[in-house]
Amino acid sequence: MATVRLNKGREKLLLSRHPWVFGGAVERVEGEVTPGDIVDVVAADGAFVGRGYHNAQSRICVRLLSWDPDTAIDEAWWQSKVEAAISARASLESDATTDAYRLVHAEADLLPGLVADRYADVVVVQFLTAGVEQARDAIVGALGTRFPDARLYERSDTASRRREGLETRAGWIRGEGPARVEIREHGRTFLVNLEAGQKTGFYLDQRENRAAVAALAAGRRVLDAFSYTGAFGVYAATAGAIAITLGDTSAGALETAKSNLEQNETGACTSEIVQADVFEQLRAWKAEGRRFDMVVLDPPRFAMNQHQVDKALRAYKDINMLAMQLLEPGGILVTFSCSGAVDAQAFTLAVSWAGLDAGRSVQIMRRLSQGPDHPVLTSFPESEYLKGLLCRIV
Ligand code: SAH
Repeated sequence: MATVRLNKGREKLLLSRHPWVFGGAVERVEGEVTPGDIVDVVAADGAFVGRGYHNAQSRICVRLLSWDPDTAIDEAWWQSKVEAAISARASLESDATTDAYRLVHAEADLLPGLVADRYADVVVVQFLTAGVEQARDAIVGALGTRFPDARLYERSDTASRRREGLETRAGWIRGEGPARVEIREHGRTFLVNLEAGQKTGFYLDQRENRAAVAALAAGRRVLDAFSYTGAFGVYAATAGAIAITLGDTSAGALETAKSNLEQNETGACTSEIVQADVFEQLRAWKAEGRRFDMVVLDPPRFAMNQHQVDKALRAYKDINMLAMQLLEPGGILVTFSCSGAVDAQAFTLAVSWAGLDAGRSVQIMRRLSQGPDHPVLTSFPESEYLKGLLCRIV
């Protein structure tokens, strides 16, 4: 096994169990390594820091898997870690109202680079790094053993894979059929396009927040902005909203949203689907004097990294200001940021600026986060990527 020797002092964050070793922290690599190989990371004085997988092509050259010098990272290790992550979801597995949830949440499940989601009878897996690519057989074996009747679908077609020097790959690993599946979430049904859908097909991280929206939707005209396949809108419509409006730029997502509305019990709720840029559409509605009683704003990631934070905060401010201006007094704004680089405090500040510019007061009633199947690892603050505020605008 090769050894990665760190520059002086660069072991501190790693010893507090942050799993990422950046190229700049490394003094030298002693021994031969090919992408994905297991290495030992040692401090400048040679003291053991941790064991993980290496990839010289990645900005993150080692992702640590263990801080114990006696732990071998072999097939049995990968299998037991995958098994442990899945077992931690037991309460979701036994929940009859929901059959779609995350099984493995990468770094936050101590399995860097690996994502696995369950969608009814399909498990979708993403191998995001060379390290998990090397362990692919062990991981597929563990998923297959744990879910013997499930089909396995791969979505290793992300930009991050290219940054690891890996080819993209997508398709069935086990089983076959159309890459579309019907899932259940809190008793609602949704179509998921495994092949072309965003992420692995559905925004599973918003499940609990959708329930929070449903709890307040009755009797309201609800705007689901950045709707994707309409999940927030479907929750509102099935919880007594009188009208829902979905807005997104993706024609494919909106087509699925239409089916999702049709196959759930939406009663007398009227629905409107608008394919448009949300920024422009909110301005147009403002000019027309259009009003809503509740707005959900779930935009894509505005800040890809630390350098984009200021620009992202201005975009969050603008869009929240526009949403507030469309709300009736006492209306509800449920607003999100999924930018890992924007922390909860900064996001709250952007929403508070939005209130000032819109001439409204903002009362935060609840702070929202990603669901429990997307845990936040305290030693890895980057894992707390989804922040939400449920506010009353007065
Ligand atoms: N709320 C959704 C997830 C939203 S993801 C859910 O719960 O499933 C963000 C969505 O924003 C994507 O569907 C993307 O197509 C859309 N999008 C990105 N930029 C946009 C823009 N400028 N205007 C409208 N939609 C946009």
